[in-house]
Amino acid sequence: MPHNATPNTVEVNGRTYAAPKRPTVVILVDGFDPAYLEHGIANGTLPTMKSFKEKGFMAIADCSMPATTNTNNTSVVTGVPPAVHGINGNYYLDSETGEEVMVTDARRLRCGTILGALSHVGVKTAVVTAKDKLLKVLAYEMDGINFAAEYADKATLKENGIENVEKLVGRPTPDRYSADLSLFVLDAGVKLLSTQRPDLMYLSTSDYVQHKHAPGEPEADAYHQAVDKIVASLMALGATVAITADHGMSDKSTPDGTPNVIYLEDELNARFGEGAVRVICPIADPFVRHHGALGSFVRVHLQKSGDVQAMMAFVRTLPGVELVLDKETVCEQFELPIDREGDFAVFGDRQTVVGARRQDHDLSQLAGHRLRSHGGLGEQRVPFLLSAPLDPGWQAAHPRPRNYDIFDAVLNGVVA
Ligand SMILES: [Zn+2]
Repeated sequence: MPHNATPNTVEVNGRTYAAPKRPTVVILVDGFDPAYLEHGIANGTLPTMKSFKEKGFMAIADCSMPATTNTNNTSVVTGVPPAVHGINGNYYLDSETGEEVMVTDARRLRCGTILGALSHVGVKTAVVTAKDKLLKVLAYEMDGINFAAEYADKATLKENGIENVEKLVGRPTPDRYSADLSLFVLDAGVKLLSTQRPDLMYLSTSDYVQHKHAPGEPEADAYHQAVDKIVASLMALGATVAITADHGMSDKSTPDGTPNVIYLEDELNARFGEGAVRVICPIADPFVRHHGALGSFVRVHLQKSGDVQAMMAFVRTLPGVELVLDKETVCEQFELPIDREGDFAVFGDRQTVVGARRQDHDLSQLAGHRLRSHGGLGEQRVPFLLSAPLDPGWQAAHPRPRNYDIFDAVLNGVVA
C-alpha cells in the first residue's frame, strides 16, 4: 500500500498524485504520431483537439524506448521509465530458460500503478483497453471496472467489475483487427462516464489503423475524426481529458513499396558464425499481423562467447542502422532495466526496420499495404494534450514532458 501524505493524495513510485476533483479521463491513442494530429488540425477533422491549443494545453512529448506498446502503456500508468517498472518490450528472451516469451500478464511488473494507488484511497477508477494482453498490467492491483474490448462479451462482475458490456455500449464485441476495437474502448468510456461516473478513467486503444494508413488517407482521417468526436462527448459530460500516445508511426518502405528490412540475426550469424547471436524483436506480437513483427529496435543476445565490439562495429556499417549501443549505455541513456537488456541494442532509422531471421517475419500479412511501424527514435515524439489549461509552473518544470508525465499533468498541473 502506498504511503498517503493526505487522504486526497497518493505517493506512487516516488511521485505524488492528487485525487481528481472532477471526472478525469486519460486516453492513450495507440500509434498517434504527431503527423496525424498536425494533419487533422490542418484539414479541420480534429476540431476538439485543435481547441486544446488555446483552451487547454498542447505539446510534444517523448515516449520511453523502445517505442513499443507495452513498454509505454506501463510507463504511463506507473509514471516512471522501464528501469523502474521493468516492462522493456512486448517480447523478451528469458535468460534462465533461453525461451522467448511474450508479456501477457503482470509478472514482469516491478512497481505499482497510479490507478491502483488512487483506487485504494476512495477514488473510483476504471480501465478499458483494446487488447486483453495489456489488461493485467494496466489494472494491476486496482479496485474498479476493468475490461478489454476484444473480450467485452466475456466481462463478468467478479473478474472485471462489470457485465453486459455489449448492452452498455450498444453493439457487439468488435473484431480484434478493426478500427472499431479502439472506438469501442472510447465509446465504452463515454457510457461509463454517463452511468457509473468514475472519477478517473484510463482508456487505451490499438494501433490497427495507424499501422495500415498514413496521415491523409481517408481511413486514417475517419478514425481520428471519430476519436476527436468522442473526446468532445467526454468533455460535454464534464470530464477533463488528457491525451497522449505510446509511440509514433513511420513509413518503413522504399518508394516502390518494398519494406526496408535488415535481417540482423542472418547478417550477424553469416559474419560471425552460425548460432553466434539471437536477435529479439521487442515489438513482436503474435496477435498483431500488420507489421510482421518488424520494428526499429532490437536486442542482440550473444549465444556463445564473441567479440561484442566487433559485432557492434559491423552492425554500424549496415545501411539503415541509426544507433548501436552496448548494454550499459543503452540502459543509461534510455532508462532501461539492465538485468533485462541484451548484450547490445540496435536502432533502425526512421525508414528502416530491423528483424531477426528472414523466416521469422511474415510480410504477406501486409496484403498490399506499405509497411508502417515503430520502435525506434523516429517514433519517439508523441502528442501531449490536455482539455484544460496547465499551470505555468508545471510547464516550466517539464520543458520537454515525457508521455508518462500525463497523469501528473492532469492530476497535479491543471488549472481549475
Ligand atoms: Zn502501440
